[in-house]
Amino acid sequence: MDFSHYSDAPVQIAVDLVNTLDAATSEDHLASPSDVAAFLETHDEGEWCRPGWKAAERDLHEVRALRALLRDVFEAGDESDAADAINVILTDVGAVPRLSVHAGADPHLHFEPLEAAPARWLGAVTGMGLSVALIEGGFERFGICGSATCADVFVDTSRNRSRRHCSDTCTTRENVAAYRARQRAEA
Ligand SMILES: [Zn+2]
Ligand SMILES: [Zn+2]
Repeated sequence: MDFSHYSDAPVQIAVDLVNTLDAATSEDHLASPSDVAAFLETHDEGEWCRPGWKAAERDLHEVRALRALLRDVFEAGDESDAADAINVILTDVGAVPRLSVHAGADPHLHFEPLEAAPARWLGAVTGMGLSVALIEGGFERFGICGSATCADVFVDTSRNRSRRHCSDTCTTRENVAAYRARQRAEA
């Protein structure tokens, strides 16, 4: 069974959605329904997002609730807890298989409903994305940034599983800080 269509964009959507709440500063980038609409718009990869949605106040609350459930996956203590956290999402949004035949594609399964509120749709897509990431890479691929001033999450796709930060920006900042600390220690 091929679920590779849940490998790339859906995982990125999950990571980006969790990181709309800056856990280090509590700054929330989903402050209004239009922020939800903008998030969907910027993550539109044709098949994955429905840019025509008009997000309402209720959608904002539901997407924020989903975001908290997604963060639980990254903060889980082990693979089993992470699987439980993902299953909560898939159950919550009622993700059920739907056989899909796009033009030019072999028949394959989708789990997000065609017509649904943003939170339900996002929950099915991101829940499946993290499922595939866990199945294929294991829970050690799931990380929270090691920077002292950042708590963003990431999924490590590097070959040697060496990633410790959410982004190059954080890696650079931490390297500079470590370098300066060494200089101070030597001075
Ligand atoms: Zn498809
Ligand atoms: Zn970071």
